[in-house]
Amino acid sequence: MNPITQLASLFAEFPGIGPRQSKRFVYFLLTRNPQYLDELSRAIADLKKSSTLCASCCRFFAKQTTTAARCTICESPVRDHSTLLVVEKDVDLENIERSGLFSGTYFVLGGRIPILEKKPLERVRGNELLDHIQKKIERQELREIVLALSLTREGEYTMEILTNMLQPLCKERRIKLSTLGRGLSTGIELEYSDSETLKNALNRRV
Ligand SMILES: [Zn+2]
Repeated sequence: MNPITQLASLFAEFPGIGPRQSKRFVYFLLTRNPQYLDELSRAIADLKKSSTLCASCCRFFAKQTTTAARCTICESPVRDHSTLLVVEKDVDLENIERSGLFSGTYFVLGGRIPILEKKPLERVRGNELLDHIQKKIERQELREIVLALSLTREGEYTMEILTNMLQPLCKERRIKLSTLGRGLSTGIELEYSDSETLKNALNRRV
């Protein structure tokens, strides 16, 4: 494979990037100076070394120290640890954080469950979520779980699976299980929602 095609096929694996865009990236890089390319290669090479997955909420974060296992949100003494917001991906979490509307904690599911998936909880961090919730229950700090997933078909299907998984436990432990209100319009992904929409969705959770 020639280098142009090879790099384009790597870019084509990025979310939302098709073959034509991936080629555009390659030709863009060919026009840049060597310093830019060095910086880019270095940033990619260091990414995994300098970032890690939070042992608690499963979000990626930049390590401040080499021993940090939990992110600053999970470690924060001022956050409301009794409310847990379950999101699909890291960018959804970042969008909500940027809005400043939520002071609880998060769990990053790592995707959505495709319809008719045979092992739904293994496609996302389903078992890790259950484990996380059980630990929170043991510490008696959990009062509400909000399923904040996109209102797409897969998002709704994922909510259905998670609700079935969590409902018995929530009932037994008197934990409120809610979803975002319809401030979010159908088909909208959380990462693209503006702060007014997020505010409505959070305030009108059901
Ligand atoms: Zn965390």
